[in-house]
Amino acid sequence: MQKEKNLFKLIPKVDEILENKNIKKLIEAMPRKIVVDSIREEIDLLRQSIKEKSLEEDQIINRIDSLIKLVEIRAKKKNSFKLRRVINGTGVVIHTNIGRSLISEEVMENVKEIAINYSNLEYDLERGERGERYSHLRDIIVEITGAEDAMVVNNNAAAVLLVLSSLAKGKEVIVSRGELIEIGGSFRIPDVMEQSGAILKSVGTTNKTHMWDYENAINEETGALLKVHTSNYRILGFTSSVSAEELYALKIKYNLPLIEDLGSGVLIDLTKFGLEYEPTVQDSIKNGVDIVTFSGDKLLGGPQAGIIVGKKEYIDIMKKNPLTRAFRVDKFTLSALEATLKLYLDESTVVEKIPTLKMLSMSLDELEKKASRLYNSIVENVDYSNYNIEIVDNYSEVGGGSLPLERIPTKCIMVSLRENSIIDLEKALREYEIPIITRVYKDHLFIDLRTVRDEELDIVADGLSYGFNKLKGCIK
Ligand SMILES: *Cc1c(COP(=O)(O)O)cnc(C)c1O
Repeated sequence: MQKEKNLFKLIPKVDEILENKNIKKLIEAMPRKIVVDSIREEIDLLRQSIKEKSLEEDQIINRIDSLIKLVEIRAKKKNSFKLRRVINGTGVVIHTNIGRSLISEEVMENVKEIAINYSNLEYDLERGERGERYSHLRDIIVEITGAEDAMVVNNNAAAVLLVLSSLAKGKEVIVSRGELIEIGGSFRIPDVMEQSGAILKSVGTTNKTHMWDYENAINEETGALLKVHTSNYRILGFTSSVSAEELYALKIKYNLPLIEDLGSGVLIDLTKFGLEYEPTVQDSIKNGVDIVTFSGDKLLGGPQAGIIVGKKEYIDIMKKNPLTRAFRVDKFTLSALEATLKLYLDESTVVEKIPTLKMLSMSLDELEKKASRLYNSIVENVDYSNYNIEIVDNYSEVGGGSLPLERIPTKCIMVSLRENSIIDLEKALREYEIPIITRVYKDHLFIDLRTVRDEELDIVADGLSYGFNKLKGCIK
């Protein structure tokens, strides 16, 4: 009982804590109420653990010693935005759950210019009258893809829905059974088809679809032929499918629009970086596809958007569809997309300047260098004997439903713990002030250097130090 009382006495008073210079600094940076609440909560926690004897005496003293730090962490957490930055240690480059493609500073300069000023968003500067929101991107998309015309909507799901609704409402759309895909977040081709008012006419089987399957299904009810890129899975083994190039013959014979949902929308040949070939938008247009749709924030490396390219006569129909108004892109997206597409005009620098492409093409040498830097900074800063870290070979993934079979060799920092559970460390890293998302596999924690940028290495080292401390029990 005596001991308990003494421990209570060791806890400083709220007013005392408020006099601390770090706490004063904190109050300058955020609402005072948040700081005071955080102090109260930390003190309450301490009192509770003394009362309930949930911590050892030395652990409690430890916590009292680091009380200022604990208050800072708690207050910063309370004051942080709900939607906030995280560090991607997963090695999945286009990770839909954590924001897909990153936008570079250079591109953001343009977004900022448009955001803080008025712009000619829907204003024709030459004629001094109302203009068209889609016109700004048309020329550059046409130049890069070789298509006749282009328009942009909110995302690729909207693009597919708009295309089907505009070109095939009430008509049958022929699709291979091997291409009835589901993309995460409930995008399913049969459901999108139903929403659009088009009628799904699936042909062939899961693993094999032939030219005659398509041809036999064509009748007077047919509105279009649809090819869907199976971006997030592959059917291997005894398979066959009909390429868009081959479908071109049918399209001509029966005078039907040929539509292709490409998904990732890559604009450069990825085999240059040793990656598997992913059909480019330019190839689809060359193969005679009438309408191609793809995402802005997958392999293209821009903002969330759905890009539609192809025949002008069809795009004109889409522009008149009321859905276009509902799916319209905002000015931030347009400015980010225009600036991203501009980078594609210079082939020699595009890979360096678009973060998604830069990460995907990063050499093992560069990755090894980053891994050593992180390794050194962890070993220097972290005082914890209960862990082991190593630089190991591993594999990154493209993600975003792109190149599902591709495993890109990479370098990881692998952390193993002797006593604590690795799951607790993974959780602690997620709770760090800049959350660090990592991968756990067979009792080891992996931080893939491919998706961690140079300027983030110190944050990761600090995060690990926080995580190890937390495991030691001095931060709760
Ligand atoms: C990703 C993807 C979509 C959905 O695109 P969003 O931009 O996420 O709406 C549709 N079709 C395919 C084939 C895809 O890969």
